[in-house]
Amino acid sequence: MSTKPITAGEITASPGERARGFLTAEVGRGITVRMPVVVINGQEDGPLFAVTAGVHGAEYPGIEAAIRLSRDLDPSDIRGAVIIVPLVSVAAFQRRAVYVNPLDGINLNRVCPGNPSGTITEMMAALLFQNVIGQAEYYIDMHGGDMIEALIPFTLYYRTGNQALDDRSRALAEAYGIPIIVGTTVLRGGSYGAAAAMGKPAVLTEAGGQGILDEPSTQMHIRGVRNALKQFGVLEGSPEPLPAPDYYDRFVWLASEQDCVYYPKVVVGQRVKGGELLAEFTDLFGEKIGELRSPVDGPVLFLVTSPAINKGDPLMAIGAK
Ligand SMILES: [Zn+2]
Repeated sequence: MSTKPITAGEITASPGERARGFLTAEVGRGITVRMPVVVINGQEDGPLFAVTAGVHGAEYPGIEAAIRLSRDLDPSDIRGAVIIVPLVSVAAFQRRAVYVNPLDGINLNRVCPGNPSGTITEMMAALLFQNVIGQAEYYIDMHGGDMIEALIPFTLYYRTGNQALDDRSRALAEAYGIPIIVGTTVLRGGSYGAAAAMGKPAVLTEAGGQGILDEPSTQMHIRGVRNALKQFGVLEGSPEPLPAPDYYDRFVWLASEQDCVYYPKVVVGQRVKGGELLAEFTDLFGEKIGELRSPVDGPVLFLVTSPAINKGDPLMAIGAK
């Protein structure tokens, strides 16, 4: 029997209990950030898992999966504990903001682990790390394509160079069950990378997109978290048997060099070759002003579907070996 209460911010769950409330922070300009959090504490000792969603507020299947898991996981079935933040960026959800936190225009997944005296979004990242991720032993961050992105499901983990840690992150990715796994070596300020850099097995999982709350993607996330909890002994049982995944070593982002109208020439999931035409760009008169060719071979993992592109905006990403 565990007798250890688990606390996240001002929320405490005794062994065998579920507790819920908000992580709060005064972030300046008279704004108080309120981040929902649910602590599900088991009755026996075991690992502490952190699960987040809604780092990007329009990636709905992950948010929905987190809400359902926060209600359905039964403390009496759990060894250890699970802390779930179903919606990190509440303001982005409310305002249907793409990529960034509308309170300051910053992408939370570029500033982790945050800064308690930084910008609003940096303070939110710090709130999350100090109260939830920092105390966890494992971390899952659920995403999907944003409001203007299509994607095929995939899982990212950050390869730190510490083989034992990287093997556990990969095992977490495999247990989640999405059949495309990308082990990156680039830290972009994402919460999963920051958690891995702190020594925690961590994954970012992607399913769904384009602002649609669809049930298959929601189920993919729910099954993934449950399988991961089984893999590491939090829930009883073994993860369901899964086909061997495809592994990639790099997540090659392609961004626009100019303001333009964007015409993708590929579909999401398509396997492209190096040099293959990926997209064309025109000005507002329809005159062609550029094109994009693939620097690598591999599948198109996500694809921006809006034609309205600004200089520096992402266009798509390709998984590369
Ligand atoms: Zn996202």
